[in-house]
Amino acid sequence: MDDLLLPRSGAANPSSRALGTNPGSFARAPDLGGPLAFASPDTPGMPAPSERTAWDFLPPGWQRAGAFAVAPPGFVPVTQLEHARLGIVTPEMRRVAAREPHLTPEQVRDEVAAGRMVIPANRRHLALGLDPLAIGRASRTKINANMGASPVASGTAAEIEKLEWALRWGADTVMDLSTGGDVDAYREAILRASPAPIGTVPIYSMILGRRLEDLDSDAILAGLRRQAEQGVDYVTVHAGVRRAHLPLVAARLIGIVSRGGSLLARWMLARGAENPMYEHFDALCDLLREHDVTFSLGDGLRPGGLADATDRAQLAELSTLGELTERAWRKGCQVMIEGPGHVPFDQIEYNMKLERRRCHGAPFYVLGPLVTDVFPGYDHITSAIGATAAAYHGAAMLCYVTPREHLGLPRREDVKQGCIAYKIAAHAADVALGIPGSRDWDDALTQARAALDWDRHFELAFDPDLARAYHDEDLEERADYCAMCGHDWCAVRLSREVRGLQGDAAAAAPAAIGATSGSRPLAPSCPRSGGPRGAPAGGHDARR
Ligand code: SF4
Repeated sequence: MDDLLLPRSGAANPSSRALGTNPGSFARAPDLGGPLAFASPDTPGMPAPSERTAWDFLPPGWQRAGAFAVAPPGFVPVTQLEHARLGIVTPEMRRVAAREPHLTPEQVRDEVAAGRMVIPANRRHLALGLDPLAIGRASRTKINANMGASPVASGTAAEIEKLEWALRWGADTVMDLSTGGDVDAYREAILRASPAPIGTVPIYSMILGRRLEDLDSDAILAGLRRQAEQGVDYVTVHAGVRRAHLPLVAARLIGIVSRGGSLLARWMLARGAENPMYEHFDALCDLLREHDVTFSLGDGLRPGGLADATDRAQLAELSTLGELTERAWRKGCQVMIEGPGHVPFDQIEYNMKLERRRCHGAPFYVLGPLVTDVFPGYDHITSAIGATAAAYHGAAMLCYVTPREHLGLPRREDVKQGCIAYKIAAHAADVALGIPGSRDWDDALTQARAALDWDRHFELAFDPDLARAYHDEDLEERADYCAMCGHDWCAVRLSREVRGLQGDAAAAAPAAIGATSGSRPLAPSCPRSGGPRGAPAGGHDARR
């Protein structure tokens, strides 16, 4: 029997602090301060973690001094990375630790200093009321919701409503991807209203009102400066798409599916020049550093179908993103990396661990990935499956996909469904990874379920209204069963009776029931009893 138990790997999974954890997780022990913070064990053949971190890419004139660094005389730190390198714990780091009690402020500082964690917190947005959070594999998995006005649907009130709706359903950050209407005014209103970090893709605004081919370095820097001054916390910059990569796309089934990537590819072909985001990357760094805007280095060549996953174009861009990560760190900027896309399930671990190696553990922010292409209308599900695996294998933030992906502009219900699918993915990964305390919520709900405490059950559910409505549709009373199996077939009720009988037997002959020692306190047994009378439709695990 003992040889059938799930093996422990590393230390006990600390995802449940109150009760300890069954040996059910294969997660490695947390290794804060090392390259493996809350990572899955590596399947043989996976790329090893990079041996370098942001510490290996200090700005010119900086020196390591013990655990921290010393900057040139007169230097004034601006970014969270610069403060961390100097050993300073900022108020934002303290806030992050308060929101995630498994981390100390000093651990947050050290993860930021290593480049494995970012705190996207534009100084102006902080002044407007931003509540800072961290994105990094030592912290809980975060989810992002995309929103924004389109040329056919726009309005400030509508955008604020979308923001509040996304936050209501658990979005940790929101990206404003507006491409129509008064995008500048929408952005300002969103930043004033949002306690969550706001990200953008600035090239969208840069080309509004001008021909793409007319985009130049002045327009790029002016557009970026405007958004940095407004308070945007992180920006997608597709600087990794290079002219030399474009021929690699020819063999693809679907080519380039990133809006920013396709726009820049067209610009490069029209102008016969290198990507201006790449050419002027150092100037972009200087500008973003001034306001501590975090880079989200975009995956302009991400695959748009399973057939194109992990191809030469995607990998060539990833290599460039590694180079840009090093350059941004030398400029004192915080960096995260964007990732695919559409990836077969078996390639997800490789993609996550390749990024960890090539980009030295910079937080990976992935879109899905979708693990199959043939379920349009259900891509919140196809992608949440991939997102769970991605987070388990190293991704730090998951960009949601809604049921309307590939088909149309998400509506309110699509946003809700996308957020919920991704909260499931993020939470499942956190439990599997052993993020301390993450399973306590599950255990509390299981206890309520075991006690047939319906009100507590609803209260703990992520969507209490839905849980209550489903229950009450068939059976409004709070009985010791529900309509799924009915009274006589209710396994939970029967189990409570069994455990009650075992308790009685234990009281009578304790030595005879050693196998139950260590079981948790039981709820009182159900006063009602009776044998099964008809075939159940199923319910809980009773259906097996
Ligand atoms: S075992 Fe069946 S009847 Fe009992 S609570 Fe679960 S689903 Fe409802």
